[in-house]
Amino acid sequence: MADKTKALAKLHSLDTERMHLERAAAVLRWDQETCLPAKGVEDRAEQLALIEGFAHEKLVNPETEGLLGELEDAGDLSAQEEDFLRVFRRDFRRAQRLSPEFVRECARAEGLSQAAWVEARKNSDFAVFAPHLEKMIALARKKSEYWGWAGTADSPYDGLLDIYEPGLGAADMAGVFYPLRERLSALLEKISAKAPALGAFLTGPQYDVQRQDAFCRELLGGLGFDFTRSRLDLSAHPFTTTLGFNDVRITTRYAAAEPLSGLFSVIHEGGHGFYELGIDPALRSSCLAEGTSMGIHESQSRLWENVIGRSRAFWEGWFPRFKEYFPQQLSGVGLDSFYRAMNRVSPSLIRVEADEVSYSLHIILRFELERRLFQGTLAVQDLPGAWNRAMEEYLGLRPACDAQGILQDVHWSMGAFGYFPSYALGNLYGLQFWEKLRECLPDTDAALGRRDYAAIHRWLGENIYRWGRRLEPSRLLLKITGKELSAEPFLRYIERKYTELYEL
Ligand code: ZN
Repeated sequence: MADKTKALAKLHSLDTERMHLERAAAVLRWDQETCLPAKGVEDRAEQLALIEGFAHEKLVNPETEGLLGELEDAGDLSAQEEDFLRVFRRDFRRAQRLSPEFVRECARAEGLSQAAWVEARKNSDFAVFAPHLEKMIALARKKSEYWGWAGTADSPYDGLLDIYEPGLGAADMAGVFYPLRERLSALLEKISAKAPALGAFLTGPQYDVQRQDAFCRELLGGLGFDFTRSRLDLSAHPFTTTLGFNDVRITTRYAAAEPLSGLFSVIHEGGHGFYELGIDPALRSSCLAEGTSMGIHESQSRLWENVIGRSRAFWEGWFPRFKEYFPQQLSGVGLDSFYRAMNRVSPSLIRVEADEVSYSLHIILRFELERRLFQGTLAVQDLPGAWNRAMEEYLGLRPACDAQGILQDVHWSMGAFGYFPSYALGNLYGLQFWEKLRECLPDTDAALGRRDYAAIHRWLGENIYRWGRRLEPSRLLLKITGKELSAEPFLRYIERKYTELYEL
């Protein structure tokens, strides 16, 4: 046993060093997105490659392999150590099965592919991007095979989905996404027949961005965001990154003509931040000290952004204060009009501009196309046509050009196939958790009106945040709700909310 204790201690020390290196790389990446001068990118790319190489060596080396061998049937380990070994092994095997040459080939292809995508999107010319997309798909397929996914029509795609949502395959997702698609399309059709909420006060006047920022900081503080452990900065695309146990960074962007865009990004990223900041200190600087999956992460950001942040109860608490920041722009506007305007349903061609009802349809469309691409039943050259037909079928809109359609997202150019479903899963998990939370805390609406979030944080912290990666998504869901993944709670929420809002 003494040997095993020693082996485990050594493995922890390698793991901690790897996490520190990865987070040092994350600091450089955060800096690149928030303040790096344009000409600094070349050296930065080399610095990042070097540090990421060191982090990789900490994970994959003969010593690690030997230590894992020694701990094969360790026995007598605490539950936390068992979880650590399981997660560490998973990371190790994934990294080990990709040769350094293959990893370099992927990095090179990704660089070229992203540059081609930027060019193609600028000129709305899919043909420029198509050969790179073919290459990225071929590499992703190979990667999945190296990891051992083979033998069924969905194998390569399941292997990619598993990166972001361990344990959930394409068939599982299709089983909940298809009924979701039907019900959301039906709801959208009913809403389209009604007059849209007006809300000219949100689209006409200019909202000073400095005042927007001041309000967002006050709101974030009010929500319980700990500024001694985190920061809010500006970047072109909002994101959250963890740089240390007591250092989580979130970013947003503001536009004077769109006062709610920056605000909801702040609440969304804040939700990611709460999750990362709530992880059990006992997991500090280890591979367990992260959110358990992209879908669970999105459940937290979307819960705060949409379910809480776009609720009437929430704005009962904050609207008077928001009006004090923008008295002219909101002169004569009541809470009801404000609430209606922020929940206006208006199908858009662009995913990131989508409302709560149509958002998941954008995701299901991408999921279906990805699945067919990896099954080999859809060719890259036929992708724009398939995209446009699905857009018309699900949302009743047809893109006039590829930039507004197939070329709008960066994900595929980076080879991040299988990532999109996380967003829709986040909506579903979020409402499964929320139903349970409200059962345990029946006073929630009143608490939101009082701007009192303590009980919500406590519940989320105890049930979700603290576990980090110790519980895989399905186990976490089962432990909290006693159920498997289901679209019903989300549909109940969305149908109730919008039936009332649009008097359907
Ligand atoms: Zn997010």
